[in-house]
Amino acid sequence: MSPHTLDHAAASEVFNRDEPRVDWHDETLWWVRQKRDRAAMQLPEWEALREAASQIKHHVLSNLDTLLENFERKAQENGITVHWAANAQEHNEIVWSLLHKKGIDRMIKSKSMLTEECHLNDFLRSKGIEVIDTDLGERIVQLRQEPPSHIVLPAIHLKKSDVGDTFHEHLGTEKGATDPQYLTEAARQHLRETFLTRRAALTGVNFAIAETGGFVVCTNEGNADMGAHLAEIHIASMGFEKIIPRADHLGVFLRLLTRSATGQPVTAYSSHFHRPRPGQEMHIVIVDNGRTTQLGRPDFRNSLKCIRCGACMNTCPVYRRSGGHSYHNAVAGPIGSILAPNLDMRKNADLPFASTLCGSCSNVCPVKIDIHDQLYKWRQVLAQEGYVGGIKKTSLQLASKVLASPTLFKLSFNAARTALRIAPWAANNPLNAWSIHRELPDAPKDSFRQWWEKNRK
Ligand code: SF4
Repeated sequence: MSPHTLDHAAASEVFNRDEPRVDWHDETLWWVRQKRDRAAMQLPEWEALREAASQIKHHVLSNLDTLLENFERKAQENGITVHWAANAQEHNEIVWSLLHKKGIDRMIKSKSMLTEECHLNDFLRSKGIEVIDTDLGERIVQLRQEPPSHIVLPAIHLKKSDVGDTFHEHLGTEKGATDPQYLTEAARQHLRETFLTRRAALTGVNFAIAETGGFVVCTNEGNADMGAHLAEIHIASMGFEKIIPRADHLGVFLRLLTRSATGQPVTAYSSHFHRPRPGQEMHIVIVDNGRTTQLGRPDFRNSLKCIRCGACMNTCPVYRRSGGHSYHNAVAGPIGSILAPNLDMRKNADLPFASTLCGSCSNVCPVKIDIHDQLYKWRQVLAQEGYVGGIKKTSLQLASKVLASPTLFKLSFNAARTALRIAPWAANNPLNAWSIHRELPDAPKDSFRQWWEKNRK
């Protein structure tokens, strides 16, 4: 691969050093995937729901301008202040200025992948503002100074013993404790104090409704509600694709979201925010940050339909065995590998290659995004733009010539088979990256074509 700061394959090697952990990670996510299958199969109308969701999002992407303006007008009528941010920097500056104006230096935050994308925590820390993440998984990785490794299950790469060690170090729990109830209680006591003492709360937005000017936040722990209801200022950060036209459409998405994410019939808390309570300020920051560019790429615009359920990660054989951190991007896995090159092609040119293109991601996606097709298309764009390394590019050009000519195919495969029989070490050696994790079988004497001609009777 050409000039990268990080590389998925190299980062996966690090994760793969601990084989039992990789097996456990793989099995855990597959278990979540199976729960999703059972939940989906309980609904005879599942495919109709997926189709409806995809069509609604298609309509949204074609009418974003009017829907967003309608939403802004309605939200303002409801007493919500609406801000627009062209990029991550503007988003972070807006959040900071709101806190600064009120003299607030401590904020609680419920899980928001958009703020991860914008690196909000680091930005606010540099301004002297402390941010406490209140989603349990998010808080665990925050204490460990790690980014989330999954969009729905941020600490899925960690075992109970890792959490026990982290809580012992930061929250003073007993050394070696691994009982989930004990550890959860410790987190609950720790977070209770922050809920009660922080004056500002930031939440994400799962769905914003153009018709009503309200928005919905889905959590399983109720932490968004706790934060938003107790704080004197509630800031909601929203990628502009989160808009849906009508409140009626919520039923479609809420039925799909958690079934796809964790196999639950519905999220424990789907909280509707429409207006600030008396005395409270409510702000919503609508963020572009590359989304307009993606909307303008016909092959990739469907990626903006994503409702961030994580199903494509749970099913992906590469994600399950390489871990979320190997994707070096806020959103990991198959959908992250489509979104990341849009943000920075040079830095993320490796990610569309982190896929077997098996299509399992597209099969489970509740909004029917053609994920594996888009990954394949990104590979072509990246090659055309010069982000694919010379060796790979030359060998694929050669392969395409050989595969396009029956004569060349026959000659070269006969030559390769003979060479492999005489000197197998020429291919099976540590200099050949392909063979490092694979064993080439012994080359047969005859080609399949020769075998067929001899045995077809
Ligand atoms: S791409 Fe589809 S499956 Fe993946 S997170 Fe988004 S909605 Fe879920």
